[in-house]
Amino acid sequence: MSKVALVTGATRGIGKQIALTLAKEGYNIAVNYRTENDDLVGLKKKIEHNDVKCLLVKGDISNFEDCENITKEIIKEFEKIDVLVNNAGITKDMLLMRMKKDDFEQVIDVNLVGTFNVTRNVIPYMMKAHEGRIINISSVVGVAGNAGQTNYSASKAGIIGFTKSLAKEVGSRNILVNAVAPGFIQTDMTAVLKEEVKEEIAKSIPLKKMGTAQDVANVVKFLASEESSYITGQVIHIDGGMVM
Ligand code: NAP
Repeated sequence: MSKVALVTGATRGIGKQIALTLAKEGYNIAVNYRTENDDLVGLKKKIEHNDVKCLLVKGDISNFEDCENITKEIIKEFEKIDVLVNNAGITKDMLLMRMKKDDFEQVIDVNLVGTFNVTRNVIPYMMKAHEGRIINISSVVGVAGNAGQTNYSASKAGIIGFTKSLAKEVGSRNILVNAVAPGFIQTDMTAVLKEEVKEEIAKSIPLKKMGTAQDVANVVKFLASEESSYITGQVIHIDGGMVM
């Protein structure tokens, strides 16, 4: 029976690349999305081109009830969830002096509470199955901090604490929980930056370039696979050496 992977926020950027990469490995894919768009049908087709099934599941991960429904829909269709990739995330950057409470709360609600909401609903099925992989997308700024991102850094640091604690809770059930910390990756999230700013950041990275969504997807693929079966509670940086 094919393995099943749920990727949250899989319509664009890193999440989409993870979904396509796992599909190539033979996983049936549940694509969680928040916003309807015309590309969803195309993405489903692209995933199913690999001879696997794709279920599109709508839901806002910051809403616990949505996450209950997302999980139920997937279990109804596939009967199990082997791999959960908590990818969906947002930024609302601003120096703390000018940051609104709403902007702080929204980022925590999606990135950190959202990770809890999805995981809390999925984990009973992994516990029952005595196996599972959870891969949380953190960030290097959750490790090193970044001016203008107190909300985002706090959410991503929270994800690291969440990952390590959960890894200790569920290791005896053969559920492996890891985080990846991408650095500066080419997606819509970073496309908002001015070209000069991107060039400056790239210069400061030992590998002298931005990463791609595929760079992140490759590590997620490894963490979902049998090759990583003795790794849990870790944070793997995918950052060209940006933070070391
Ligand atoms: P992106 O291009 O902005 O895509 C984010 C995805 O998350 C979109 O599909 C978005 O859906 C979805 N999403 C946002 N809020 C959601 C919610 N409440 N419920 C469900 N889905 C939601 O971002 P990305 O660059 O691919 O980032 C993916 C992950 O990697 C994020 O967790 C991000 O923090 C992390 N990361 C990115 C970088 C980077 O340099 N790009 C670096 C480190 C970490 P909509 O289309 O509906 O908005």
